[in-house]
Amino acid sequence: KIDARQVGKAYPNHPVLEDFDLRIRSGEFVSLLGPSGCGKSTFLNVLAGLEGYNDGDVLIDGRHVEGVNKDVGVVFQSYALFPWLSAQKNVEVGLKIRGVPRAERRERAAEVLRTVGLSSAANRLPHQLSGGMRQRVAIARVLAYEPDILVFDEPFAALDAQTREFLQGELLRIWESGPTRKTVLFVTHSIDEAIFLSDRIAMMTRGPGRVKDLIEVDLPRPRTTETRNSTQFTR
Ligand code: ATP
Ligand code: MG
Repeated sequence: KIDARQVGKAYPNHPVLEDFDLRIRSGEFVSLLGPSGCGKSTFLNVLAGLEGYNDGDVLIDGRHVEGVNKDVGVVFQSYALFPWLSAQKNVEVGLKIRGVPRAERRERAAEVLRTVGLSSAANRLPHQLSGGMRQRVAIARVLAYEPDILVFDEPFAALDAQTREFLQGELLRIWESGPTRKTVLFVTHSIDEAIFLSDRIAMMTRGPGRVKDLIEVDLPRPRTTETRNSTQFTR
């Protein structure tokens, strides 16, 4: 459960978030939309403990976020893979940082690479992979250490439409098939993507950003490409 209350964040003379309120229930998939520069990535970094904040409270399961939290996994737009490491090793590195023993690292990395359909590319370096494959490695790396909360910052923005739709479907399939659903915060500029993926959509105002509107998405689950075009809104 994520509970952000009246969060304020400012750089010197430059407020970024003001009175930012957002509650996300456990197992809920929420997308965050808003104009460029309104503070989406900033909030995401605050939630992941990568950046501090000045006002209010950011709570995960009732505890204040203080520093990097191993229960939060982040996928960035730019993959953030180590270029000199194979897909397999890129996934293992995330586990190593979290103290998973070597043999288990290898096994778990192979397993999540299978989940994202990359078993045959496990030994390739990032530059030998397509953009979509790289993003799947980044997703596998985060899935491998099984965080309770998954945070995505425009993960599919750099991909062509076909790859993007494929990965949206894959992400939903993985999210809906787990033993317990993870809590997801998904930043995107695409309203279509948000509608297809989310339980709720949070709209932010131009900076200093705050949540202006929360929209329920009324679409049956599991969602498939067939239901993609039959979306309804409720408020
Ligand atoms: P986009 O949709 O373009 O990714 P965003 O909503 O993610 O935008 P942020 O990256 O959160 O926006 O930035 C919010 C504001 O904070 C912007 O005005 C940006 O210039 C400012 N900002 C971000 N990082 C810093 C920093 N390190 N120092 C000063 N200002 C910053
Ligand atoms: Mg951003």
